[in-house]
Amino acid sequence: MSAPLLELRGVARRFVARRDVFGRATATVKAVDGVDLALRAGETLALVGESGCGKSTVGRLALRLIEPSEGVVRFEGSDLASLGERGLRGFRRHAQLIFQDPYASLNPRMTVGDMLAEPLALHDIAASGQRAARVGDLLSLVGLRPEFAQRYAHEFSGGQRQRIAIARAIAVEPKLIVCDEPVSALDVSIRAQVINLLRDLQKRLGLAYVFISHDLAVVKHIADRVAVMYLGRIVELADTETLFADPRHPYTRALLSAIPVPEPGLRRNRRILDGDVPSPIDPPPGCHLHTRCPHAVDQCRRDRPALETVTPGREVACHLWRDLPPARDSLPRESAPDPVLAKLQAAFVAAGSVA
Ligand code: SF4
Repeated sequence: MSAPLLELRGVARRFVARRDVFGRATATVKAVDGVDLALRAGETLALVGESGCGKSTVGRLALRLIEPSEGVVRFEGSDLASLGERGLRGFRRHAQLIFQDPYASLNPRMTVGDMLAEPLALHDIAASGQRAARVGDLLSLVGLRPEFAQRYAHEFSGGQRQRIAIARAIAVEPKLIVCDEPVSALDVSIRAQVINLLRDLQKRLGLAYVFISHDLAVVKHIADRVAVMYLGRIVELADTETLFADPRHPYTRALLSAIPVPEPGLRRNRRILDGDVPSPIDPPPGCHLHTRCPHAVDQCRRDRPALETVTPGREVACHLWRDLPPARDSLPRESAPDPVLAKLQAAFVAAGSVA
């Protein structure tokens, strides 16, 4: 079998949280704690979890925007830490990032055409005489008119700006794009259009996505596989259909039970976890979730649960996963629809592929 496009093995990343008056570190946060992941070409892997769980840090480690404290990140089999300047430049061409905020990610002083031409020149992708035509092609590819190249970012709506950011990312013909909450700042109906655009571009260009989101309704629509993170660790990893139909980890079940059901008159029983997310500066020993988990036993307070294979491609980090009742029983439905989710799902249907 060929090497994965992207691979993280035993990756950890610590940050200094506090320093004393002499500048010495007095507290550190392990934002990512022993993460193993692999992404195939053309695949979408979603990273989900509450704010501060480490999913954006994993995205930045995958792009070598920050260095791991431990472990190795490989792209097409090459250790990113071993790349020199030239190798890193080649990698940057193949691996791009789309940010949450399209307002902040575009240069307000450049025309859209200049912004899209810049990476073409930087990576020698198109000769200067061909760049204008290539810019027009890129704008068409993301559903915008080629003449928009003459305008500035402030002249566009939020959805259009995110399309421009996507055009800039695909300008260098990448193989991998890390999408960090790419639709969170957009209106519900625009969200659906941008997600459908990303799916359409993936099919046409063979892109792989690491899709970072706290919005499970969106993740369900775009991801092939989902990794659920809690306090820097992956607690469950499965293909999307399996994870949503039969979540095994108590944390995954709590996250999924918080998604409203769009059908009129139906709602899931929410499984709210007790307490707040513990401080990442001093996380609980053993299983990080034990302070909030209704199933916790002594072993959970003592031993870190390893990711265990449930079925091929499906892994769970919980000492009790074999003994917990099926998810069907843990997620019964009751009353009351959620109007926002219903609108989002209707918008996915109505948006078509490229708006
Ligand atoms: Fe809950 Fe224990 Fe499983 Fe952690 S290992 S999720 S505390 S049952």
